[in-house]
Amino acid sequence: MTDRIYNFNPGPATLPLPTLEEAREALVNYKGSGMSILEISHRSALFEEVLQSAIARVKRLLGLDDRYVVLFMQGGASLQFALVPMNLASDAAPVDYVDTGTWSTKAIKEARILGKNVRVVASSEDKEFTYIPENIPINTDAAYLHITSNNTIRGTQYRSFPYAGSVPLVSDMSSDIFSRVFDPAPFGLIYAGAQKNVGPAGVTLVIVRKDMLERTPANLPTMLKYTTHAEKNSLYNTPPCFAIYMVDLMLKWLEEDIGGLAKMEAINREKAALLYDYMDSQDFYRGTARPDSRSWMNVTFRLPSADLEKKFIDEAQKAGLGGLKGHRSVGGCRASIYNAMPIQGVRALVEFMKDFATRNG
Ligand code: PMP
Repeated sequence: MTDRIYNFNPGPATLPLPTLEEAREALVNYKGSGMSILEISHRSALFEEVLQSAIARVKRLLGLDDRYVVLFMQGGASLQFALVPMNLASDAAPVDYVDTGTWSTKAIKEARILGKNVRVVASSEDKEFTYIPENIPINTDAAYLHITSNNTIRGTQYRSFPYAGSVPLVSDMSSDIFSRVFDPAPFGLIYAGAQKNVGPAGVTLVIVRKDMLERTPANLPTMLKYTTHAEKNSLYNTPPCFAIYMVDLMLKWLEEDIGGLAKMEAINREKAALLYDYMDSQDFYRGTARPDSRSWMNVTFRLPSADLEKKFIDEAQKAGLGGLKGHRSVGGCRASIYNAMPIQGVRALVEFMKDFATRNG
């Protein structure tokens, strides 16, 4: 298909072409059932197979053992901002947060609305969230320590995770899950809106360590309890079947076409290095994140003026490089180079950047 562009949108984001092509077939007649994947019952054997396969792929790719439960929920990562404190912290227990910008700020806000004893133990607000704080203080009385592993808007990412000892880490990994290898052991809970590295919008991946489930208070509404979804294997109510199907296909691509997480990480490193090495070699484009905190997923940069940024984004679009506008809250430019962005797309972007700088520098 030559009419597809290189899509640098931050999410919903580009998906692998084989995934889309397989889904196209399934939209009309899924596995010879005479029904679309959109039409089958969530209680059917056909869907049960999809769900089990998606769960198994998540576990294999991340190396999760039986201490972890994989859930597919709705409400986006944004609902998790509230469910985490509701389920994991009793009213008295302090909850610790690191504030690295918009999404962690929103998570903090929800915990406060719920009347939790919120402690912001570290923040990078002093420098407009352009870095990841170091030496994050650990309080042993905290119910958990919440971090945002990759900050989609500011283009920052943890290189390594804080060592919190017995305090479980909770991470919003919406924009970098499955992008690199990491040790899941310190994490009590991980959540991710699917629409970047996992699949389409409409489903949220939640990974919970079973001991965390013992914390869920009895008096929460049924749908807001992690225990409900864990006990019913994400089938308490009708799940977002099609989105889960797409997750399974996307993770199949990651396992079978790419060859797993270590291979994906190597490709992602190479893609990010192409862009950052070029940015560091000239001074027309200026990266906004501190070099040691730069994200491999969202590369944020400025041009010499807002007018040039607009021209850059418009001309790039015409050249088949879409979605390069920065988040409306910060302006500038952003190239989201998630798993499904091929290295050829990044090379094409660097070539375009060079050419644009020559013509406008
Ligand atoms: N967290 C992060 C890191 C995000 O990038 C986003 C969305 N861009 C969200 C949370 C919010 O996700 P949702 O729209 O699925 O609620």
